[in-house]
Amino acid sequence: VTSLLTFTRTKKERYEWMQLVGHPGTFKEGTHDGYVLKALCEHERYCCELLQNDVLSKFVPKYNGTISDDEGNSFIEMEDLLASFHEPCIMDCKIGVRTYLEEELDKSERDPKPRTDLYHKMIAIDRLAPTEQEHEDEKVLKSRYMIWRENMSSSQDLGFRIEAIKKSRGLMSKEFQRIKDRDDVKKQLTEFIAESPTRANEYLERLLDLRSACVRSNFFQTHELIGSSLLFVHDGKKTSISMIDFGKTRPLPKDVSITHNQPWIRGSHEDGYLLGLDNLISLFQDIIYD
Ligand code: ATP
Ligand code: MG
Ligand code: MG
Repeated sequence: VTSLLTFTRTKKERYEWMQLVGHPGTFKEGTHDGYVLKALCEHERYCCELLQNDVLSKFVPKYNGTISDDEGNSFIEMEDLLASFHEPCIMDCKIGVRTYLEEELDKSERDPKPRTDLYHKMIAIDRLAPTEQEHEDEKVLKSRYMIWRENMSSSQDLGFRIEAIKKSRGLMSKEFQRIKDRDDVKKQLTEFIAESPTRANEYLERLLDLRSACVRSNFFQTHELIGSSLLFVHDGKKTSISMIDFGKTRPLPKDVSITHNQPWIRGSHEDGYLLGLDNLISLFQDIIYD
C-alpha cells in the first residue's frame, strides 16, 4: 500500500507536491499560493495556533486558519514546506521514544479491539513477530503493534526513526521499518545527503538551532509531543528542517513536567523528543567529523 500523494499546481510551471507518509487524501492544494490543506484535527489546530507565537515559530509551517470545502470537510491551512524548493529531497523522521499516547494504551486495555489490518502489517515486516495466539486470531492490538514497531526500529533506542525518504527525482522509499542500529541509521542519513559535507553542516546548524529553541520554548515545556515528525528538505541551493504533525501532541497535566530525554515509564508522559534531537545532532556530527 502506498500513500504517496502528488498534485499538480496550475500556477507557475507545473509543480509536484509530495506526501511521504500518512493516509492518502489527508492533504489538498491550499486556497493560497504556497499553502496546503490538511484534514482538520482539533488537537493539531490548537498546536499550530499556539506555535505561531512561540520561540518555535520559525521551525513550524505558517498557519492560516481553518477552512471547509463544499462537501463540509474541514481543513487546516498551512505553509507548504516544499513550495520554495526545486526537485527537493525529502525525509520524514518521527521523533520520540514512543508513538502512542498513554490514553491510547489505557483505552486499548479497557476495551481491547485486536485488528486484522495490523496483523497483516506486522507479518509483512516479520512473519515470526506475532504470538501463537495472534497468528490464530489473525489480529493484533494497536498498542502491541505500535510498541513492537518502536522496538523494531530505532525509536526506542535513538528517540527517532526514519519513516520515509524521497530523493530528488528518485523513487520514494519507506523500507525503514527494521532500521534500528545507529550505524544503519547513519548510513541512510549519509545517503540522503548524498555525502555532501556542506549539506551535513547545514542540517547540523539547523538541528542545533532547533534544540536551543526547544529548551527556551514555552510550548515545548508544557506539551508532550507524540508521533510528531521533523521534515528534512533540501535541493541544490537550500536546506530546511521543520516540525510537522501535531495530531498527538497534548498539553501536559498541570502537575506534570517532563525532561523530554528520560526513558518513558507509564504515567511519566516522557516523550524522548530531546533524546531524538540529540541523537540526530550527534549522527550529523559523526558524518561531518568521521
Ligand atoms: P501520520 O500521522 O500517519 O504520520 P498525517 O496524516 O498526520 O500522517 P503528516 O505526518 O502531518 O500527516 O504529513 C504526512 C506527510 O505529508 C509528511 O511526511 C510530508 O511528506 C507531507 N507534509 C506534511 N505537512 C507538510 C507541509 N506543511 N509542507 C509540505 N509537506 C508536508
Ligand atoms: Mg506524520
Ligand atoms: Mg499524524
